[in-house]
Amino acid sequence: MTRNTSLLDRAAEAASVASRYCDEVDRDSRFPTESMQALKDARLMGIMIPRELGGESANLRDIADVCALLGQNCSSTAMVYAMHQIKASSLVSHGADDAWHRAFMACVASEQLLLGSATTEGGGIGGDLGVSNCAIERDGEEFNLRKDASVISYGKQCDAILVTARRAPDAPPSDQVMATVLKSQYTLEQTSTWNTLGMRGTCSDGFILNARAPVEQIFPQPFAEIAARSMLATAHLLWGALWYGIAANAVARAQAYVRADARKKPGVTPIGAVRVAEAANMLQLMRSSINAGIDKFERAQRANEELNSMSFAIDMCNLKIGTSRLLTDIVNQSMMVCGIYGYKNDTPFSLGRHMRDAMSAPLMINNDRIFGNTSNMLLVHRLDQRLVG
Ligand SMILES: Cc1cc2nc3c(=O)[nH]c(=O)nc-3n(C[C@H](O)[C@H](O)[C@H](O)COP(=O)(O)OP(=O)(O)OC[C@H]3O[C@@H](n4cnc5c(N)ncnc54)[C@H](O)[C@@H]3O)c2cc1C
Repeated sequence: MTRNTSLLDRAAEAASVASRYCDEVDRDSRFPTESMQALKDARLMGIMIPRELGGESANLRDIADVCALLGQNCSSTAMVYAMHQIKASSLVSHGADDAWHRAFMACVASEQLLLGSATTEGGGIGGDLGVSNCAIERDGEEFNLRKDASVISYGKQCDAILVTARRAPDAPPSDQVMATVLKSQYTLEQTSTWNTLGMRGTCSDGFILNARAPVEQIFPQPFAEIAARSMLATAHLLWGALWYGIAANAVARAQAYVRADARKKPGVTPIGAVRVAEAANMLQLMRSSINAGIDKFERAQRANEELNSMSFAIDMCNLKIGTSRLLTDIVNQSMMVCGIYGYKNDTPFSLGRHMRDAMSAPLMINNDRIFGNTSNMLLVHRLDQRLVG
């Protein structure tokens, strides 16, 4: 048995449910209810939570493996699951020392709660994670928060949302905190509908989020620390993993097409065979880069100060840009192999959904924004030129 066989075995049932419903989820732009229920039935929602709180202390590599498996079957299910785990990583990394978040982690594990994220904001903020317009307004032991959250994936289905805001009404935009608010503590007034090219099942509608909750639900650390030490790396790695799943499935379809073609014309190598080899090469680059990124993250977590370093931030940003670009290239390449059978929506080689879902990858924290950030860092940071290390 391989290291994570049992988690993958449990995920396999959910993946097969996801595969059964993925076209319907995509067509109707609806939440993947059946596959998310299957993930809950397999008790996979709380696996990152520490064992002493009822979870399984699963590491990021194992969770990435589950995301990749789901990505091969339904990108939206995989994205919902990955985003939930990214939020769980903030709880595990930054909530371990405070009583409220410890108790909440136990609930996530026991009740298989679904966590959502509200970082993106209207009013010109967009995908700039490091600034907020909205602010925490303290009122005794409680706080009020009103956020124009222009994108909250599966907002209607979340059991709790982790939301960013300025620390106080007089705080500058970059002085942010993150708070966990429970479904019973907020209302969502829908402002936009998620009718998109791809990732349609994530149901990432826009909402005005109005919350009132106890101040103990605000993480003690500044949000900048949470983003740097856990959230960005976990997001880039788990997104990369599910994108790898989409790419792997596209290549599998292209390979199946070429094999079928070869059987029809014995002795003649189909023209698409070389493109399949090229796609397999890109897929391997993608896999290596995600595995190397996970290694780096695990090493940095042990070294601690490494997590705050510029070189770590640049590596994780480059990983996101690289995997999102490889995904779109691989799906394009696979489409060239399958030709009209890939272009049609109703063949075993259809790749339209893969292509549409893949187009979200460079936008999900816009690659240009990330390049803007890394270009600033590279003005002062010397690139590591070693091959190993
Ligand atoms: C499937 C999916 C699910 C999502 N789910 C959520 C969610 O649950 N919660 C949430 O909060 N958000 C969510 N988002 C939003 C996401 O986190 C980003 O906010 C969003 O993708 C950024 O979109 P954007 O490129 O239009 O915006 P921005 O990043 O605001 O960019 C706007 C434009 O400005 C350009 N730009 C920005 N900065 C620079 C720069 N420095 N240099 C050059 N050009 C720049 C960009 O190229 C772009 O053209 C989701 C997005 C997707 C695709």
